[in-house]
Amino acid sequence: MTDRFKAILISRDEEKRQSVAVTELTEADLMEGDVTVAVEASTVNYKDGLAITGKSPVVRRFPLVPGIDFAGTVLSSSHPDWKAGDKVILNGWGTGETHHGAYAGRSRVKGDWLVPLPAGMSVFDAMSVGTAGYTAMLSVMALERHGITPDRGPIVVTGAAGGVGSVAIAILSKLGYHVIASTGRVSEEAYLKELGAAEIIPRDELSGPAKPLAKERWAGGVDAVGSHTLANVLSMTSYGGAIAACGLAQGMDLPTSVAPFILRGVSLLGIDSVMAPKALRLEAWKRIGTDLDHAKLSAISTRIGFDGIIDAAKAIIDGRIRGRVVIDMA
Ligand code: NDP
Repeated sequence: MTDRFKAILISRDEEKRQSVAVTELTEADLMEGDVTVAVEASTVNYKDGLAITGKSPVVRRFPLVPGIDFAGTVLSSSHPDWKAGDKVILNGWGTGETHHGAYAGRSRVKGDWLVPLPAGMSVFDAMSVGTAGYTAMLSVMALERHGITPDRGPIVVTGAAGGVGSVAIAILSKLGYHVIASTGRVSEEAYLKELGAAEIIPRDELSGPAKPLAKERWAGGVDAVGSHTLANVLSMTSYGGAIAACGLAQGMDLPTSVAPFILRGVSLLGIDSVMAPKALRLEAWKRIGTDLDHAKLSAISTRIGFDGIIDAAKAIIDGRIRGRVVIDMA
């Protein structure tokens, strides 16, 4: 077997202009780490779109292989937890940002970054979930820790037809929550209802400037959008409720007031998937194994090949991707 494998590489010239190319690498080109993995499946997350298009400074070391998550099989390991043949998942920890990432046939990483593929899931199932879906699970777990149980009232999910949103709806509905899906693509109503949304609301109900407080509509939320949308979501959260903030598809700003916090006791729960501690990751992936209807993953995901990555990265930034894109790296 040849040592060469295909990879996408992001480079920067002296004037700091970014370029993206498909190239070939060898294991000697990989970065430091104690586990080498054959990358079998990956995904295109919003952050990968930002990295490949250069829209935001996600990549902070050049040249770099982008791709923030993968699933595959361990080829060699000097880490005590892993041996050749183990099926593993990697999310975050700076891969695709400062460490060579997923869009290469092989990756060398720290064994501490890896989690086992849950029993009963294929590498493609895992990447149908991907970092977006694992973030959705971290968000649901944060709501649960805050005591937001299904009997407390509805949960709003923003950016509903996107990756985080789609998986959040599937998880929340399986757990018995009444899910209100906010989307700019009302044409996706049938898709969102199939995932388990009970109600659909148009994105523009939430995307303009927010009042400090508005009519109470939900007990909790998973917000992938930020900006005015998160401000409106907070202003409409019922007394003692909580919103898990995990995304910025509308913007990084948060034009809100303290009113929801000091007059309704609302909590804003920050969700970070990249540096999340290992125990939380293990719990999240275990819960993905049990609390997500895997039959829904085929509705959520579209499978593409390595050659489709760059186009998919542009499409996700344009809001043209529904659910999740899974890459078959073979
Ligand atoms: P997607 O592009 O798949 O989904 C984002 C969705 O947001 C879109 O599908 C769209 O949903 C909605 N949206 C897009 N643009 C706007 C806009 N201008 N105003 C309002 N809504 C908009 O991305 P992901 O699901 O992969 O990621 C969602 C967000 O979560 C991103 O910001 C990403 O960076 C963040 N993220 C954060 C993580 C963390 O660790 N905190 C980890 C993973 C993701 P619709 O068409 O239904 O309206």
